[in-house]
Amino acid sequence: MTDLHSPASRRRVGTARRATGAATRSPAAVPGGLTAAHRRARDLLARGRSVVVVGHVHPDADALGSALALGMALRARGVRVQVAFAEPATVPESLRELPGLELVVPVTAVDHRPELLVTVDVGSAERLGSLRTLLDTARQSLVIDHHASNTRFGDHHLVDPAAEATVVLIARLIDDLDVPLDAAIAANLYAGLATDTVAFRYAEARTHQLAARLVAAGARPAEVLRPILDTHPFGWLDMLSRVLGNAVLDPGVGHGVGLVYATIDQVTSAGLRQEELDSVIDLLRTAAEAQVAAVLKQTGPQTWQVSLRAREVRGNGVDVAAVAGALGGGGHVRAAGFTHTGSPGRAVELIVAELDRTTASG
Ligand code: AMP
Ligand code: MN
Ligand code: MN
Repeated sequence: MTDLHSPASRRRVGTARRATGAATRSPAAVPGGLTAAHRRARDLLARGRSVVVVGHVHPDADALGSALALGMALRARGVRVQVAFAEPATVPESLRELPGLELVVPVTAVDHRPELLVTVDVGSAERLGSLRTLLDTARQSLVIDHHASNTRFGDHHLVDPAAEATVVLIARLIDDLDVPLDAAIAANLYAGLATDTVAFRYAEARTHQLAARLVAAGARPAEVLRPILDTHPFGWLDMLSRVLGNAVLDPGVGHGVGLVYATIDQVTSAGLRQEELDSVIDLLRTAAEAQVAAVLKQTGPQTWQVSLRAREVRGNGVDVAAVAGALGGGGHVRAAGFTHTGSPGRAVELIVAELDRTTASG
């Protein structure tokens, strides 16, 4: 069996093995862990009559794509569904072409007593922003996520760090709910998959196969990704020239691991969207002399959102999730972040100290 996600392979599994099917289908299965969690998640979703699906604050394509795909699948089953995120007040511009946005409701319109709250791509309760109160008011909550740092803040959890994106878990659940993939659902899943795998650089064979299924179902890669990855206002070029021109390389950090970093203050980012600011790390991380890249984005007089990326080195590399975790944030091994209060220079000192510390023994 190669395509572990396809309905065809499910049919081959047959009814006799259906009860244990999840264990054979999921290569990332942890005995007694993921498989039971997956089945529980499917059962909760199959039963819920009113569901609120929430992504993390400042949703990316994985968070919103997961929420919309799941929302549309549940709607197709006759479930009352809302999709929401606490911030910003409107859908980020680059994600406004995703199908199913009519499911998104403003924070003030969120049903606070749904039968089921589902969080998608949310690593910790703080990442729900003001909507974390739903954890107390919803009858039950289900956390679907792929962050290794997930704090298991709900009632039920489907957390699989082996999944390259949350949409991978959502695709499996949609299959198990027997909802056919239509073009709209597929586009949302594709958006999350392509972005979280950094355009399929970090995707196993089965994930490329899922992508093929999504395209076959009607997702159009160039159309889906153009607004998300390939569109910036002209002012972006000027911002890049200033920010990249002031980037700093310190190859000695972390016993030779190397750090490249840049800061974007609020004067420099004025008039630009979050999308423009978030694009900087992908250029910075290409610097060959550094395994770790950091971008410090000013969000207030004394507050900075810090993005960290680590280069893979012969299947290995620095775990920036550990670095971010030590500094109060979280994320993935190769992509993580944290919020810093204070000066940008101090934030860099903290990163350097953490890199020096974590690389001391190796
Ligand atoms: P970003 O650099 O904003 O694209 O974030 C990369 C990853 O780091 C995301 O998957 C987030 O889960 C995580 N992350 C970023 N910022 C924070 C934060 N302030 N707190 C916790 N996790 C974060
Ligand atoms: Mn995300
Ligand atoms: Mn994700």
